[in-house]
Amino acid sequence: MQNSELQKPLIYLKGVGPHRAKLIQDELGLKTYADLINYFPFRYVDRTQFYKINELVESTAEVQIVGVITEIRMVSQRRGKRLVATFEDKTGAMELIWFKKHKVIREMLKINTPYVIFGKVSSYNHQMSMVHPELELLEEFKKDFSVKLQPVYSSTEKLTKQNLGSRFFIRILKQLFSELQSPFVETLPQSIVEELKLISPSKAYFNVHFPQSNELLMKAQFRLKWEEFFFIQMQLVRKNLFQKHKIKSYKFEIVGQYFNKFYNDVLPFNLTGAQKKVLKQIRKDLGLSAQMNRLLQGDVGSGKTIVGFMSMLIAIDNGFQTCMMAPTEILAKQHYQTIAGFCDEIGVSVSLLTGSSTTAQRREIHQNLENGTLHILVGTHALIEDKVKFHNLGFAIIDEQHRFGVAQRAKLWKKNDFPPNVLVMTATPIPRTLAMSLYGDLDISVIDELPPGRKLVKTVHRYDANRLKVFNFLKKEIAKGRQVYVVYPLIEESQNFDYKDLMDGYESISREFPKPEYQISIVYGKMKPEDKAHEMQRFVNGETQIMVATTVIEVGVNIPNASVMVIESAERFGLSQLHQLRGRVGRGAEQSYCILMTGHKLSDDAKTRLQTMTRTNDGFEIAEVDLKLRGPGDLMGTQQSGLLNLKIADVVKDNSILQSARHHAIRLLKKDHNLELPEHKYVKQRFIELTKHKFKWNYIS
Ligand code: ADP
Ligand code: MG
Repeated sequence: MQNSELQKPLIYLKGVGPHRAKLIQDELGLKTYADLINYFPFRYVDRTQFYKINELVESTAEVQIVGVITEIRMVSQRRGKRLVATFEDKTGAMELIWFKKHKVIREMLKINTPYVIFGKVSSYNHQMSMVHPELELLEEFKKDFSVKLQPVYSSTEKLTKQNLGSRFFIRILKQLFSELQSPFVETLPQSIVEELKLISPSKAYFNVHFPQSNELLMKAQFRLKWEEFFFIQMQLVRKNLFQKHKIKSYKFEIVGQYFNKFYNDVLPFNLTGAQKKVLKQIRKDLGLSAQMNRLLQGDVGSGKTIVGFMSMLIAIDNGFQTCMMAPTEILAKQHYQTIAGFCDEIGVSVSLLTGSSTTAQRREIHQNLENGTLHILVGTHALIEDKVKFHNLGFAIIDEQHRFGVAQRAKLWKKNDFPPNVLVMTATPIPRTLAMSLYGDLDISVIDELPPGRKLVKTVHRYDANRLKVFNFLKKEIAKGRQVYVVYPLIEESQNFDYKDLMDGYESISREFPKPEYQISIVYGKMKPEDKAHEMQRFVNGETQIMVATTVIEVGVNIPNASVMVIESAERFGLSQLHQLRGRVGRGAEQSYCILMTGHKLSDDAKTRLQTMTRTNDGFEIAEVDLKLRGPGDLMGTQQSGLLNLKIADVVKDNSILQSARHHAIRLLKKDHNLELPEHKYVKQRFIELTKHKFKWNYIS
């Protein structure tokens, strides 16, 4: 789509003044004609389908009925009045109800004149009714026969209040199409258009907004989805398959004394086969002058950290500095502790940098980083502050990438000649096909084997009513010397409410597990970092037996003696979160347990989540279910990475379209690497347009 008229600001569109233009931009981010035309309906109402009154059932779908109004009356009720009309067709009668604007509506309604009514049906005492129906005289409706599938646009509360809802968008889009002078430029090569029988972009854009038939709607959607995927895949594929050897990074030729000393003298266990396999892949990557961009997936407890650490040692053996960035302070500290212990034994220097590092600590870290004496820097976001300058950062590990966006990743190495080699570690499993299409720029390693002797965590679902039994079980475990987590949900928008839940829970647990026999730690998000650390530390030291917490402990915390995870209001957690939480236990030699507590009322989705958790411990299987339940929108990092800010396509539902687009992107780039052929002129234009706003780390020429 290259038409220059589409670059016009919306304010030029008839029906959109400065006030509305600003509102639309503020609320939805739509600035230009092009933005508006790419604001797609989220569903369509079939205006060709009519229901009879005796066919109606209560449902959330909107229906359309033809009939006449036979009677109108006011009904008084305790809370104000309502206007009620009896609406009949040959099969029966129903009620139309208005709570507002009685006078205007009453005057407008015509008795015994055919209407088309439209809206949601509800039923009360076997009486079907429709509240605030849309009404149109049948005669009028017939005149506007062109509209068969009516688009429905999402809007915001603020816009709807200003009367800028779906109908408004229909109006201005109609206006837009009537103003457009020239057809859209075909960006895709003729060969693809022919092979896939794609309809033209002009036809596709018009029909996606105003479908002339079901068939045209399907074709329009197919084309637009395909095109959306295609240009994403072009970027990914070009970066991954063809540009790889052009992104230079530091090359680590030797495996030297640090690595060998650690491997031979310090490593306290044998690596699993999967760990060895992954380490080999990493070593191979690091031996090339091309930048490594590798995603390391492995279930919680599969031993990613040690693999990451050993990879760092290779970098250090080659005279480079390394860093490890974690999403939370607790996790950064924990990595630091694990790593520091090993580093001590082999003479590698390591520091921790977080938001709570003191000025003096920072000064020392900055100095040692710049003069190159510091080998490893572990930390949180603090690592990407401008003041942090490495002497020669050669290798960076990013743990749990879903909390970091691409922009943040890029910041890490903006100060170097080359970007460092990057290993991203995540415990959130993404199904492989999806990972390929989303992170086409990353190579993927998987640790698909747990260290030996690990017992699978036993997972059960218990209702709140059985809490006493659960408490008794906890007492037995604590008597055996084990420790217990009790976790409460925390949802951003309702922090105060959640805080109350947490405190109520804490109180009841304190009552049930009294001092001095029992000691309890409590950790939640809003606590001061030093208090948090103190409470954590008491639990780590075994001074407290119970840790009451919100999900701040979700990521990374490693306490092998903790063997029971109680998750309160488990129905409020997503699957991947439940799986992550469960991964906090089962890290020692003892049998561990995960207890999912819920009330009796559960949605179907919640039931599926709970059943999945009790059925399997396999992260990939859980990820598949999660994907089906939620769609990919919530999946790790996908929002930040921008790859999933898809306007029309859906990575899960439209997976076959994605595969087709990917296939063609690969084929096209194999044939014409630099998009120099004349038939790829518009592909190239669009490609450049899309990539020029991107971060430099893409290194696309
Ligand atoms: P992840 O980061 O994948 O969640 P960790 O690296 O934290 O897992 O490892 C979890 C625990 O398992 C740690 O205590 C670690 O020392 C231990 N571990 C890792 N690899 C092995 C292995 N091959 N054999 C035995 N224990 C291991
Ligand atoms: Mg870990």
